[in-house]
Order: sequence, then C-alpha cells, then structure tokens
Amino acid sequence: MEAITRDFFLFLSKNNMLNNIAKKRGGSFAAGKIIGGTDFQSSIKFIKQLNDSGLSVTVDHLGEFVDSKKVTQERTAECIETIEMISREKLDSQVSLKMTSLGLDIDHALVIENMTKILDTAEKHGVMVTIDMEDEVRCQATIDIFRQFKEKYSCISTVLQAYLFRTEKDLDDLGQFKPFLRLVKGAYKESPEVAFPEKKDVDENYKKLIKQSLLNGNYTAIASHDDKIIEFTKELAKKHNIPNTQFEFQMLYGMRSKTQHELVKQGYKMRVYVPYGLDWYGYFMRRLAERPSNISFAFKGMVRS
Ligand code: FAD
Repeated sequence: MEAITRDFFLFLSKNNMLNNIAKKRGGSFAAGKIIGGTDFQSSIKFIKQLNDSGLSVTVDHLGEFVDSKKVTQERTAECIETIEMISREKLDSQVSLKMTSLGLDIDHALVIENMTKILDTAEKHGVMVTIDMEDEVRCQATIDIFRQFKEKYSCISTVLQAYLFRTEKDLDDLGQFKPFLRLVKGAYKESPEVAFPEKKDVDENYKKLIKQSLLNGNYTAIASHDDKIIEFTKELAKKHNIPNTQFEFQMLYGMRSKTQHELVKQGYKMRVYVPYGLDWYGYFMRRLAERPSNISFAFKGMVRS
C-alpha cells in the first residue's frame, strides 16, 4: 500500500496541468509551513528566525523541468539577486538549485552560461551553491556540469542519491575534488534497472556511502529525517574520531523542527532546506510521496484555499 501511495504521488508530481493550476492558486497555504514564502523577500523573516535559533539554511527557488530559454534567464537573474540579498542581509544561507530550472532540457550551452553568471556572483559573495540531483536520466549530465565548474569555483557542491546503483562509483570518481557533497536517499520514481527497489537496500547503501564519504575526508551533508541514519552518523563519527566540523545534518523546512533544534543543542551543525516560490507543486507532491501524514495539514489548507 505504501509503495502504491508513493507511486501515485510521484506520478502526480509530473502532471503539467495540475502544476499550472497550482501555480495560479498561489502558494499562500503552504507559506511558513513547508515553503518559506512565494518569493525570497517574504522568506527572509523565516530565514532570520531559523538563523537566530542556531539553524543554518539553504534556499531553493522552486521550479524544475523548465522548457523556455526566457524563463531560465529570469531564474538566473532571480538567483543572482537572492545571492546578493543573502550577502546584504548577512543571512547564514546557501543556495540550492536544479539544472532543469536553468535549461538542462533545452541546451547544454545555456545551462553553462546561466551557471557561470550565478557562480561568478556566488564566488564574489562567498555563498555556497548546491546543485540538487534530479531524476536518473539527468544524473550524468548533472555530475558533468558539477565537475566542469568545480575545476574553477570553490563555492559549488552537489547531491548524490543512495537509491541509485551507480552512486558508489560516482562518489569514488568525485573523490579527487575533495567535494562538499549532500547525500540523500533519493526522491524520484526510478526503474529497478537503475535503482534499489527495496527501501532496506537503499538504507544500507546510504549508510555505506556516508561512511565512504566521511572516511575519505569529504565535507558531507547528511540530508535525512530518519533517526536511524542520524544515529548511525553520530556513532560512525565517534568511532573514527571524525570532528563535527566535517559534516552537517540537513532537513526540509517544516519537517521535524524539534529534532532539528535538539541536534543543534547537541553541538551538531544543522541546515534547513527552505524552498520558496510559486512553483511548489512538484516539490509538494514528492513530499507527499515520502510521508503523506506529516504534511496533511498543508494539504487540508490547499483544499480550503
Ligand atoms: P525516509 O526514508 O522517508 O523515512 C525514514 C524514517 O524517518 C521514517 O520511517 C520515519 O521514522 C522518519 N521520518 C521521515 N520523515 C519524517 C518526518 N517528516 N517526521 C518524522 N519522522 C520522519 N532528493 C533528491 O532526489 N535530490 C535532492 O537533491 C534532494 N535534496 C534534499 C535536500 C534535503 C535537505 C533533504 C532533507 C532531502 C532531500 N532530498 C533530495 C529528498 C531525499 O532524497 C528523500 O526523498 C527524503 O529526505 C526522504 O528520505 P528520509 O531519509 O528523510 O527518510
């Protein structure tokens, strides 16, 4: 039943018609619950509150699978503005973005052009930019873009997904860069040809990758709400004398806030992923796929609004 629910929401997450309806209805029902706001300006007060309570942030301007060159250029300009505002407002925040929002599905040269502008600004202001990982068909292209920019910029990181068979090798191959990596379980619907179909195998592979990344000396973000994964990381760090400064935990805004604060109290770095913008539909459906009960409050709000 759990798998059917997950597949259903992941199927809905790619529905263009529902996405357009969602955009027109706005995002006010979710603002302050699972997204920071409908624009970056309106998210600043939430980011400041999080920072004041000891939590670091990464912001993500929602939007993916963009098929218009003009929209990718608007996204690039907005991202540059966000980086400048982070610096001006002295926020403890990084930026996360998706390559399909900058033109990955349109033209490789366009993504490179857009990313170069963003990274030039990020490097100038010392703001880290993380390339989120999307579905498996775009994984190689995303890693190639990361490698290309990592040669020139220090303010760039990316994400590897534990459900993919290929990830152990990707982690090995990226070792030469001593990268800052975010490790996740993976949020898309993938075929059994490329990804572990069983959750228990994903969890085991996740632990293996965390160990591999930390023992290689990479700065590693463990992005999970799973207590078992968090405990595993803490014990691993203790056993191998890995300092707390070599890793951080990450969670999504609106999920497990109490645990986030407890981890800060225990002396761990905790970063909250704060999405903002009108394009919340795909993000929201993937969160429903992971855990329908936890965000049912937001769903009720959407039906009422
Ligand atoms: P799950 O495997 O979903 O749950 C395991 C257990 O954890 C549950 O049984 C429950 O006990 C506990 N749990 C989980 N969620 C909650 C909750 N909300 N409240 C209470 N208990 C809970 N995926 C990508 O594919 N690409 C990305 O770039 C990406 N970036 C991410 C960035 C961040 C900061 C985070 C947190 C996730 C990101 N993800 C990304 C999503 C990720 O791949 C998983 O789909 C998502 O995090 C769910 O897996 P999990 O490890 O949190 O726990």
